[in-house]
Amino acid sequence: MNWEVVIGLETHAQLQTKSKIFSGSSIAFGAEPNVQASAVDIALPGVLPVLNREAVVCAIKFGLAVGAQIAPRSVFARKNYFYPDLPKGYQISQFEIPVVQGGGLHIHLGEAEKFVNLTRAHLEEDAGKSLHEDFHGRTGIDLNRAGTPLLEIVTEPEMRSSAEAVAYAKALHALVQWIGICDGNMQEGSFRCDANVSVRHPGETLGTRREIKNLNSFRFMQQAIDFEVQWQINEIEEGRAIRQATVLFDPDTGETRA
Ligand code: ADP
Ligand code: MG
Repeated sequence: MNWEVVIGLETHAQLQTKSKIFSGSSIAFGAEPNVQASAVDIALPGVLPVLNREAVVCAIKFGLAVGAQIAPRSVFARKNYFYPDLPKGYQISQFEIPVVQGGGLHIHLGEAEKFVNLTRAHLEEDAGKSLHEDFHGRTGIDLNRAGTPLLEIVTEPEMRSSAEAVAYAKALHALVQWIGICDGNMQEGSFRCDANVSVRHPGETLGTRREIKNLNSFRFMQQAIDFEVQWQINEIEEGRAIRQATVLFDPDTGETRA
């Protein structure tokens, strides 16, 4: 039987502001660990966030570039989770009223053109980083990245192949650099994608998705999605159900793993 691939992408673009989204700390890449972490970034008791106007300007620029609606009033929310590199115990993000709603991007695949609709784009802060090397079996925490401004750009589940997903990611990558809101440096993590992937028979309702996290190269995106699609089809054809999960791509083996 025929299988249809369904992909929705979530992209984190690091915004090119001078300072963090809720504090005055620098976001320059490559500093010694923890020298760019202020009282706000490490969440000392009693500190309060002050929104960086420039981050909002970047989000609005993006919204205008993709023909989206810009919310005249926008709301931040706390996303609670526990992780050592998240000092507050929650991430400040947007849930109910993001700055950017709707809009979309034209993508090109050879002769063919397609319009990919965006669901939303919202502002949020990045977390810190856990460092597992060079600590003799222990883990170090670098909070320089905590509070770095991100724009998370979410598509509708409208892409139908890894090639379409890569074409969209490339178009988005070019756009955010062109309008000057993101440097696009994928090695440094300034532009990273999560790919939500499911399969179904054409005409059926959406299948259960698995989310491939943190793809930081277009080639890995293509390889990861192709592997994931084949894995899901095999599972279903062998009578097993797909369970919603977060997976990582291992470039060494070419496989995705829960
Ligand atoms: P979450 O924030 O928990 O990851 P969302 O509902 O915001 O969940 O969806 C995230 C992404 O997953 C969006 O890009 C959306 O288009 C995509 N998506 C949702 N359902 C499916 C599905 N069944 N198959 C593939 N992609 C999907
Ligand atoms: Mg997600």
